[in-house]
Amino acid sequence: MPLHFEDLDVVSEAKGSKSALIVPCNMCPAATVADRENKPFLRIFKDFLKSAPFEEYISTLQDRLMDQGVRSKVFKSNLPHQWFLCMWTAARQRKLQKHARRYDTVIVLGCESATRTVRDSIGSANCKLIEGMETTGIMNTKLSMKFPCNICFKDSKVIPFSPSVKVAQPTNTEPSSTTVAKTNKRVPRLMQATS
Ligand code: SF4
Repeated sequence: MPLHFEDLDVVSEAKGSKSALIVPCNMCPAATVADRENKPFLRIFKDFLKSAPFEEYISTLQDRLMDQGVRSKVFKSNLPHQWFLCMWTAARQRKLQKHARRYDTVIVLGCESATRTVRDSIGSANCKLIEGMETTGIMNTKLSMKFPCNICFKDSKVIPFSPSVKVAQPTNTEPSSTTVAKTNKRVPRLMQATS
């Protein structure tokens, strides 16, 4: 039951930045991108546990940032348990804090919980935090396995959040000095925007 997203206009929001660290969650955003592009989520024999559509999506985002003069890097891990930003270890959070100091902007690709993890990790680092995606609901889909060993989604639907869920506030709400930029300008399909 991954979450479903629409893209936000990250490139406009990052205008004026010199450098950006992209912090992607590799589960729900990757599922969203694979589903909307109607491509396999995982091709185990070819890419093992990397989702090729999401890798391409991030690479396109980096190219578009570069066109605006923003140098970017992706904060990656090869360890599967670090792929879900809502469940990061303390060590991973400390590592992000160290890396984030070298950038003036941090871009989160994930849900509000992912943003919370990143915001807590970077702490008082003097970074602009940009949310690159907006959660629109929960995916309902049928998993299918296609030859040779591709994991795909079929007959997907987006179940929207009820208004009460969407406005729910976190229980732990200590203030943070990091401001979060969230533009309402959606870019429904990043890949289309570049074509
Ligand atoms: S951080 Fe959000 S987007 Fe990532 S796996 Fe957790 S719920 Fe999904």
